[in-house]
Amino acid sequence: MSYGVYGSGRLLEKCCAYLKDCGFTDACCITDRVEDVELSRSFPGFESCNLSEAASFDAVILVPENAWISVAVRRLKAAGVTSMCYLPAYYAEEGREIGDESFIWPDLSLPRLEYLEYHVSWHCNLKCRGCTHFSNIIEGERFGDIDAFVRDMQRLQELFWGIFKIRLMGGEPLLNPKLPEFVAVSREAFPDADIRVVSNALLLREDMEDLLDTMGACGVGFDVSMYPPTKAAIGRVDGICRKKGVKLFVTPEVREFRAGMDPEGRQEPGEVYAACPARHCAFLGDGVISTCAMPQLIDIYNGCFGQNIPVVAEDIIDLYEPGLTGEELLRRLHSPMDICRFCTQKQRSFPWEPAPRTTAEAGDWWA
Ligand code: SF4
Ligand code: SF4
Repeated sequence: MSYGVYGSGRLLEKCCAYLKDCGFTDACCITDRVEDVELSRSFPGFESCNLSEAASFDAVILVPENAWISVAVRRLKAAGVTSMCYLPAYYAEEGREIGDESFIWPDLSLPRLEYLEYHVSWHCNLKCRGCTHFSNIIEGERFGDIDAFVRDMQRLQELFWGIFKIRLMGGEPLLNPKLPEFVAVSREAFPDADIRVVSNALLLREDMEDLLDTMGACGVGFDVSMYPPTKAAIGRVDGICRKKGVKLFVTPEVREFRAGMDPEGRQEPGEVYAACPARHCAFLGDGVISTCAMPQLIDIYNGCFGQNIPVVAEDIIDLYEPGLTGEELLRRLHSPMDICRFCTQKQRSFPWEPAPRTTAEAGDWWA
């Protein structure tokens, strides 16, 4: 059996060492140091090697950084490769052993989804004024439903061979005692994904062993937003993550929020959508998915302030719609929604501050 190995960095080294140990002497490393290839190429690495060679191997093993996998798969498919597997990026981590079961063989007839968000908890401990997910004004507690999540991840597996990035968020996901289950289910369903728990981290404790062990074992990291209260706690959070072997990604300090809603809905949806950074932030609800979170969350805003921003049925897609394919779902997720007319390109900045339901105002979200 001959393998062509496309990849880069530490993961490529580990993969080649493993193949050598297994006696696969026919394995041929045909791409190396993807990151060093001239940046003028749109997708470094894959144009510089002889792609026509790829189809001559019995199989191709992909070991580039996660960000390049979708591109690599497309290019290799176009080059006539029909048998291809990948090694998930977290195998580059120190101490993570590669075994035969580590190699994942995607169903190449399916597309890959680039990004997915999910609310593990809809409410939040911090309650920032103008929270884009309305977590400061939601009434009471609301948690993601693990049973629905399991079903929906299975459904997404039928539609997509992988997902580049999954963000388990809210609200504050640490409020949900079932967070470890959400982490494990996500990893089980999508071994290729860069999975992050998005948190303000204030509630993280060292004795959350189930969570920290599950995140470490699954190669899942924290995306921490550095709000002023988080800044004061980040040393403690960093210490816990280091001790438990959990990756920690921290944003620059957040001192300002932005508001960009047009409550009158006077914008042209296609125009605001085209300029919107959230336009590829697919948001999963129970059994449904939308281009961004807005159509699934606006009820919270409407209910709190007696507003009536409408949601048309087409903006929220039924994941179980008969005949729905991954390609068709991608097409719809990459299209403007009616509710985009309530967003503006013009944004208003204001200083970060807490504002729970009792002190929040409808205008907090207006541009
Ligand atoms: S920390 Fe603030 S911005 Fe983040 S989810 Fe909570 S309320 Fe929203
Ligand atoms: S509703 Fe449309 S314009 Fe507004 S955040 Fe979502 S994708 Fe962007």
